[in-house]
Amino acid sequence: MNGRCRLISGNWKMNLNHLEAIALVQKLHYSLRESDYRYAEISVHPPFTALRSIQLLLETDRVPISLGAQNTYFETSGPFTGEVSPSMLNKLGVKYVIVGHSERRDIFGETDEVVSKKTKAVLDAQMIPIVCVGESLKEKQEEMTEAVLTHQVEAVVSGVNSEGCESLVFAYEPKWAIGSGMPAGASDAVRGAEVIRATVSKFHGEEVASKVRVQYGGSVNSANAKEFMEQKEIDGLLVGGASLSSEAFAAVIQA
Ligand code: PEP
Repeated sequence: MNGRCRLISGNWKMNLNHLEAIALVQKLHYSLRESDYRYAEISVHPPFTALRSIQLLLETDRVPISLGAQNTYFETSGPFTGEVSPSMLNKLGVKYVIVGHSERRDIFGETDEVVSKKTKAVLDAQMIPIVCVGESLKEKQEEMTEAVLTHQVEAVVSGVNSEGCESLVFAYEPKWAIGSGMPAGASDAVRGAEVIRATVSKFHGEEVASKVRVQYGGSVNSANAKEFMEQKEIDGLLVGGASLSSEAFAAVIQA
């Protein structure tokens, strides 16, 4: 045992209104057994508009699912129309915040610098960042995976202290595997996790690196989840499409 708590997270992206989100969590909780909750911590990441509803549901019905957000801004308050701050999320009972998802990087132009600022802001607001890193297909074909991951992880860990760093969750999500139905092989996922921990170790030492959790994400489903979770370097999964129905998400967790 490596002492790292497993974490299986559902990233709903821009899907499900608050009523649909409530129904999904209720059905998911109904499908899960106590032993599933003991096996791994489960987090759901609804759109901002459903956070309050899901917070109330989880608290009122004492559902042991953690609440997560998909994004945040790095400032605490002020003239940033349309943005949501880490302290606002913390007040809603959010525990995990996804930072630097490849869709944020590619569609909304988030740079490594922004991802680094957001990571720090999430830690400062007493929440846990799930920092997404991963290479594009072109970068993979050019055998740049290791260099890309190293660069992305360096940008984040160089800006946080060791205490903050050891609480980080990284999600290794090869861009070409996201939503494509083409997951990475388990050995590629393990290699990604190794590069992430080696980079953390360079800045904060081996002990901190051994505490950092690494999820795999990219076309995870009930047929491949088990193989990823069997790897000792992989501490959990970040699940997109297969977390959008209670049956599919429960099947991933129970796989
Ligand atoms: C994601 O968007 O984080 C993701 C992993 O998506 P999918 O599971 O659909 O590939």
